[in-house]
Amino acid sequence: MKLICIGRNYADHITELANERPEEPVVFIKPDSAILPKGQDFYIPDFSDNVHYEVEVLVKIKKVGKHIAEKFAHTYYDEIGLGIDFTARDVQSKLKEKGLPWEKAKGFDGAAVIGAWYLKTDFKDVNDLDFSLLKNNETVQVGNTRLMLWKIDELVSYVSRFFTLKKGDIIFTGTPSGVGRIAANDYLSGILEGKTIFTLKVK
Ligand code: ZN
Repeated sequence: MKLICIGRNYADHITELANERPEEPVVFIKPDSAILPKGQDFYIPDFSDNVHYEVEVLVKIKKVGKHIAEKFAHTYYDEIGLGIDFTARDVQSKLKEKGLPWEKAKGFDGAAVIGAWYLKTDFKDVNDLDFSLLKNNETVQVGNTRLMLWKIDELVSYVSRFFTLKKGDIIFTGTPSGVGRIAANDYLSGILEGKTIFTLKVK
């Protein structure tokens, strides 16, 4: 299976008001080895001094699809979750400067946190989901899926133009503002519509 991640999918207030958005979604992939095994602590890798959390709503693909029309996209997923796209920001900045791929900064072991899954029917509207990330019990990121530049169905359709989606693939739908650095002994928890979806210790 693969983890398909969307970069920069939430406008800040200014961009939102200016009614502008990037021409196309930013897409990258994490290998399945990036998944942090359930219940395990996250170890800051030795090649980074600046690992950032990015809390993101997740979508689990339930059947094979390619060139999925947006109007049918909703039939390709039943489950919604929440996770973290851990990013070695220092490594990423260096790679970005040189125009090189981000994989080392985004795809390392443990860089994908995947919390509990809920049926989309457990929520009244997937395009109106409140979510947040707490660090040491203080809220550091707050988002709502209605603020996405590209909504879930648009993303499913868009990425399926490039990659065949398979059962079990997971889409990381991008992070709202408020990303920041983690340090050893931090305790992170992710909340989706009032439900605690994951908790995590940083080592
Ligand atoms: Zn991200």
